[in-house]
Amino acid sequence: MNKYDYVIVGSGLFGSVFAYRAHKLGKKVLVIERRNHIGGNIYTEDIEGIHVHKYGAHIFHTDYKDVWDFVNSFVEFNRFTNSPIARYKNEIYNMPFNMNTFSKIWDDVITPDDAIRHINEERKEITGEPKNLEEQAISLVGRTIYEKLIKGYTEKQWHKPCTELPAFIIKRLPVRLTYDNNYFNDKYQGIPIGGYTKLIEKLLDGVEVKLNANYLDNKDYYDSLGEKIVYTGKLDEYFNYKLGRLEYRSLKFDTKIYDTSNYQGNAVVNYTGSEVPYTRVIEHKHFDSTSVSDKTVVTYEYPDDYEEGKEAYYVVNDDKNNELADKYRELASAENNVIFGGRLADYKYYDMDDVIKKALEVEI
Ligand code: UDP
Repeated sequence: MNKYDYVIVGSGLFGSVFAYRAHKLGKKVLVIERRNHIGGNIYTEDIEGIHVHKYGAHIFHTDYKDVWDFVNSFVEFNRFTNSPIARYKNEIYNMPFNMNTFSKIWDDVITPDDAIRHINEERKEITGEPKNLEEQAISLVGRTIYEKLIKGYTEKQWHKPCTELPAFIIKRLPVRLTYDNNYFNDKYQGIPIGGYTKLIEKLLDGVEVKLNANYLDNKDYYDSLGEKIVYTGKLDEYFNYKLGRLEYRSLKFDTKIYDTSNYQGNAVVNYTGSEVPYTRVIEHKHFDSTSVSDKTVVTYEYPDDYEEGKEAYYVVNDDKNNELADKYRELASAENNVIFGGRLADYKYYDMDDVIKKALEVEI
């Protein structure tokens, strides 16, 4: 007899939602977490009375009503709408690409027809189906915007030329012919009042959690504790990289406390030029009106090549990595007592709501 029905590896969103469901069904559950805190990369911590998104900004958005209702049953969400601005040299543009952006880029743009005229003119250089991110971007918004707002940012973030990146990445961003700066098209959007850690705490209420515990270092031991394992770590690492290494992207965060109440006037400012080493600057207090302070906490986000020992934030879903991931997935499906889930174990560029959806639907 194993001591637990489920040993859940990782207390991020997938692990925590799974743990909640299993616990509610009366299963015996142990969550083991490598870090010294729960929540994975959505973890928020308080600095100067401000909820700081410690591993990068997270804005919850979804079209799934069941997912929205689920998270709202644990914490109240505020009405934050993500509307980042982009700084290119000393110019400021609205994101995502919308009429505010187009009218700033092209002096003579007032109406949607004016914008369409410019975009159509510029996209002529792409004929046929876009083969990579560069062609996709130019065909969506033209070369001027590609060069000012996309190329530098994207190449910093992924450390690859846009001609070698998959087109789908840029399709995450809406292109709109209205004066609407909302970054997302989804019906529901917001941030948990009081921070994401509260949401994870509620999900794990009553569940046994062991922090500072590395599953793969003691795999046999943890396997012997659980009838089944739920694994949310890196897919290739689970198999000790035996088919080769999947690529990931890491980040470095430089967080500063400034003695001013409002540093940049917006939660997110993207730096789209290649001359600036960071991709975005986050001013955390603007996410949440309960973050009240005379000071402000600001994080500079630097893309970083992933290597062993760093945190993996992004998967790289290009053809080469997807093919290798497919081979690992085949191995994974042959692991009878292991459920793989979440961004790293599924090797998919999921948003938070996708992860929750999967965790709500997986069979327990
Ligand atoms: N992107 C860009 N300029 C920006 C913001 C985003 O070109 O100012 C592109 C870039 O290719 C990036 C992709 O859009 O990789 C997705 O951005 P998103 O903000 O969705 O990325 P995440 O929040 O997941 O880091």
